[in-house]
Amino acid sequence: MSPPGTFEENLSTAKGALARYSAGPLLHLIDGELVASASGDTFGNVSPSDGKFLGEVAAGGIAEIGIAAEAAAAAFDEWSSQPPSQRKAVLNRIAELIVKRADEIAAVESVDTGQPIRFMSSAAIRGAENFRYFADAAPGALDGKSMPTATHLNYSSRKAIGPVGVITPWNTPFMLSTWKIAPALAAGCTVVHKPAEWSPLTASILGEIGHEAGLPNGVLNVVHGTGEIAGKALTEHAAVKAIAFVGESSTGALIQAQGAPTLKRVHFELGGKNPVIVFNDADLERSLDAVVFMIYSLNGERCTSSSRLLVHETIHDWFIEKLTERVKGLVVGDPLNPATEIGPLIHSVHCDKVRSYVDKAVEDGATVITGDYEFDENSNYVNPMLFVEADNSMRVSQEEIFGPALTVIPFSSEAEAIEIANDVDYGLAGYLWTQDVGRAHRVAGALDVGMVWINSQNVRHLPTPFGGTKRSGVGRDGGDYSFDFYMETKNVAVAFDEHAIGKLGVRNT
Ligand code: NAD
Repeated sequence: MSPPGTFEENLSTAKGALARYSAGPLLHLIDGELVASASGDTFGNVSPSDGKFLGEVAAGGIAEIGIAAEAAAAAFDEWSSQPPSQRKAVLNRIAELIVKRADEIAAVESVDTGQPIRFMSSAAIRGAENFRYFADAAPGALDGKSMPTATHLNYSSRKAIGPVGVITPWNTPFMLSTWKIAPALAAGCTVVHKPAEWSPLTASILGEIGHEAGLPNGVLNVVHGTGEIAGKALTEHAAVKAIAFVGESSTGALIQAQGAPTLKRVHFELGGKNPVIVFNDADLERSLDAVVFMIYSLNGERCTSSSRLLVHETIHDWFIEKLTERVKGLVVGDPLNPATEIGPLIHSVHCDKVRSYVDKAVEDGATVITGDYEFDENSNYVNPMLFVEADNSMRVSQEEIFGPALTVIPFSSEAEAIEIANDVDYGLAGYLWTQDVGRAHRVAGALDVGMVWINSQNVRHLPTPFGGTKRSGVGRDGGDYSFDFYMETKNVAVAFDEHAIGKLGVRNT
């Protein structure tokens, strides 16, 4: 993991990198060429840190998505029929180049998203790990199963589904896009990536790196633009066989409808309102650290954040006291400062939404505790929030705030904890803390979520399935699960020449 530099070093890295992107509009990467939109349309990109204008970005439309999708379709046969070892070599080179530019990627990501550099430096390296992991997995991606019966040998194999669309959000955009693009390329798919309009910069760096590493033209295309225009066009394009989407649940519903006429395969990673359940036999200090980390890291703009703390009534007061101390101690500040724990939120629109939950909490009857940071109302900074004396019916317990805001709800029994945990529309992740092995497994089995961590913060192992239930997602990715999404599976049945074949049309008379 590359350690974050000093504030001055990070500032100078960011300035150097951003100078390259402020000279003219940030362009699309289509068929290996950097191009503007045919219409000449652009949109402005502003830093959440200080509202500074970072530059113009080409605004793609139906035309640019069309050309990119055709380029991806034209490049598909050659890329998918290469020996997997060649794809492996290119993906490994991408990983090496990401590591080489990790400081730059981290600094640009911090400035573009407001995410503290202390987390972004590891997110850039994590992006490289994703490429390495799927590079190694590429040679096995075609493999299927052997399923013999008494009369037949059945065997399956997989092949890439075709050109795919990848649509990503603005929270940790670089890492999240590698998570989708690396397995797609390893499987043999070609890609059109539509990054979030609030954080476009590092998607272009990944495009540059991909081509420097030897991706043939058309294999990875990046089209900037809004979701309503460029994103929608991508989901509707007939040449695009599947859409891997990470974003809000309501956007997922729109994409499902937009993709229906062309029967798109979809994979959705959506919102969350994840519970962390702490029983009174837990290691309290470790669980406190994990609770704080899992909601106040990454500005709370994290799908797997533990935004609801369900705590046993006997340790409730201890937790509130400790949490209050921690919340007041959190360091809010410039995201390029390595001491910063919470940076500015991505955009004024999102910031207004997050701040609005202070009033909503009070209206619904909760008590609000905040950090001591004095922020300017006109900035994108917020004080970390802690909602206490809350119950699960309140809006702060039911709605995804996607900011540094934790709701604390007491429970008195295991059954009540499970009931509260499951009583939300989302089902992405759950965390639970107990020393009782039987209870740990019982509760893990009862939680209606896609992923559970026991006595642990979110530690991701790349082969494991990632995804959610209910409004948190459709499908799983990670390891071989990603290949199932990006590939078609074919079954071949071969007879041993002995099975009975009914004779039709043979008359006995
Ligand atoms: P969003 O849904 O507003 O936007 C995500 C992407 O979709 C952007 O690129 C946007 O331009 C595009 N988009 C918007 N409308 C579209 C349309 N009609 N057709 C096609 N594309 C469209 O989400 P956001 O606000 O950028 O991101 C925050 C959300 O992402 C949160 O809900 C968070 O929980 C979720 N998220 C989930 C995961 C996960 O793994 N489950 C991970 C990260 C973020």
